[in-house]
Amino acid sequence: MILVTGGAGYIGSHTVKELLRAGYEVVVLDDLSSGHRELVLTEHFVQADVRDRKALRAAFRRYPIRAVMHFAALTSVPESVADPGRYYEVNLLGTLNLLEAMREFGVKTIVFSSSAAVYGDPQKIPIPEDHPTRPKSPYGRTKLMVEEILCDYARAYGFSYVSLRYFNAAGSDPAGRIGEWHEPERHLIPIVLEAALGKRPYVEIFGTDYETPDGTGVRDYIHVVDLAQAHVLALRYLEAGGKSGIYNLGIGRGYSVREVIEVCRKVTGREIPVREGPRRPGDPAVLVADPTRAQEELGWKPVYTALEPLVETAWRWLLRLSSRFSQS
Ligand code: UDP
Repeated sequence: MILVTGGAGYIGSHTVKELLRAGYEVVVLDDLSSGHRELVLTEHFVQADVRDRKALRAAFRRYPIRAVMHFAALTSVPESVADPGRYYEVNLLGTLNLLEAMREFGVKTIVFSSSAAVYGDPQKIPIPEDHPTRPKSPYGRTKLMVEEILCDYARAYGFSYVSLRYFNAAGSDPAGRIGEWHEPERHLIPIVLEAALGKRPYVEIFGTDYETPDGTGVRDYIHVVDLAQAHVLALRYLEAGGKSGIYNLGIGRGYSVREVIEVCRKVTGREIPVREGPRRPGDPAVLVADPTRAQEELGWKPVYTALEPLVETAWRWLLRLSSRFSQS
């Protein structure tokens, strides 16, 4: 059985779906602080916080866990700047608790949710995995620290791990059963689609004076189902004896904020009011992955390499989510 921490969250829930589809048995551990019970597709569910060592050990005692995927974490960069203590406690101590429980129960295989935030300001584009790591926020530092801890656990205790550095996860399950559901929403694509739906008066563009072709920020948007697939491949790779490693997950192509808004207009056929605002502190101009290593070593091949089909899945999900709330 595979333990998925944070399996009620956005990327975790999509990964659970892919794991089940690949024939794995899955148990989810999530405290539901930001995840949703409705997104958990396995019947095996433990509601617990990763800071709770007793609950973690109880889960390992109860289920025949052979590997772990660790998503449970706090994920907001600005929040981590305002309240670093909480981020170090949940993301760092929570992970240490998990690793110690794994050690106690003889489980040594882990796939970890890392982030492109470990790189800081890019020195070159696209960004390869051996790019210098100078995270600019406590959030990014917690991810880098866990990567380093995993390396120590591999060396000392024989753990094998894959750390996956995500670029911008976006989109939703094309079947519409689960999807991106953050409260409040902070990410560009759902924000733009909420404006298309009339749930927001306008979209604010954070900076129009970057050194990019249209002056707005460029990001590498990777579909959450492709991301989820990469986790299944990483697990298979480790279970087949693959060596521990770090992999970027992005499609290797960037889209600007204006391009994203334009694609959203096309997909929704609706007006999307826009206001141009100042840069958001800490945002680099361009973040684009070099995903070659994941493609070559894990055999990963993203399906969603264009923005339009990705936005279509996000739009379908948002329509479903909003009709659900207007009915209840
Ligand atoms: N962005 C924006 N307006 C918004 C939200 C985001 O202009 O309301 C921009 C942001 O500055 C960045 C891109 O959209 O260039 C993606 O931002 P998001 O917060 O989705 O992800 P990030 O790259 O910050 O992790």
